[in-house]
Amino acid sequence: MNKSEVKLVDENGVRLDGRRLDELRPIKMDVGVLDKADGSAYIEHGKNRIIAAVYGPREAHPKHIALADRAVIKCRYHMAPFSVEERKSPAPSRRELELSKVIRESLETSIMSEVYPRTSIDIFIEILQSDGGSRCAGITAASLALADAGVPLKEIVAACAVCKIDGKIALDASDIEDKQGDADLPIAFMPKSGVITLLQMDGSLTEEEFNQALDMALQRARRSTRIKLRRSSGSTSQSRNRLRRDTNLRRQKPDVDNPATATDRQDRTERHRRSPNKGTKDR
Ligand code: ADP
Repeated sequence: MNKSEVKLVDENGVRLDGRRLDELRPIKMDVGVLDKADGSAYIEHGKNRIIAAVYGPREAHPKHIALADRAVIKCRYHMAPFSVEERKSPAPSRRELELSKVIRESLETSIMSEVYPRTSIDIFIEILQSDGGSRCAGITAASLALADAGVPLKEIVAACAVCKIDGKIALDASDIEDKQGDADLPIAFMPKSGVITLLQMDGSLTEEEFNQALDMALQRARRSTRIKLRRSSGSTSQSRNRLRRDTNLRRQKPDVDNPATATDRQDRTERHRRSPNKGTKDR
């Protein structure tokens, strides 16, 4: 189909899938969906189906990658061969390598990595089905998986793409809008502080359109943070306990005279001592 033949917005401002310009696709999120990972989340965003899993904080491997003052964050964004219409090679493409890097950077801003020096935190984002905006949905899912793993976060990172279709700025581009539209602007940010952690642009926008797109994404993401999360029944109590323990760690200043904090630290040291190599291979 020729790009110019496709009408993405009708005269009433309604899009091909029936949405208004400022409307998101239906979103469903779930955390603690995997038993083996330290933290996990599943997101359905439109037809995107994405699983995110987190291991860590765990001993950095190989040891030379360890940082003395903070945890090393690693991230892999990967599309399953069956995630798009034509089988995709399972080998990582340049696009996936680039997305892994920018997603890692966007999440790193929110992680209090200084709490776990010499450790690594591994984030895996697996796109089971892709429908445009997969990096944004992947970021949101990964941030939830980090929280589920008990990794201390400044804030959850939320992400959404804004696009320009038929000359109009619209929220949350679907696959066809992403491909046939004039511009695509994925944005990730921390809703409370307003810190933008990822901003990319494909296509071109005027300054006015750019500001309109940014406002639209930020306003909508703020509203979306009021969503309620439903924890899956299969979630492990381990990740819940870690979340509680890490929340306590953040609230209390490290103090050897404080028995609660001392116990938390002993707990953690003991866990690393007992299984120093637990999960050091990429799985
Ligand atoms: P995002 O998914 O973050 O919007 P892109 O803008 O690069 O990322 O991709 C837009 C859409 O193009 C994807 O969501 C996916 O549906 C499709 N796509 C990406 N890579 C491939 C591929 N290798 N084969 C087929 N479709 C792809």
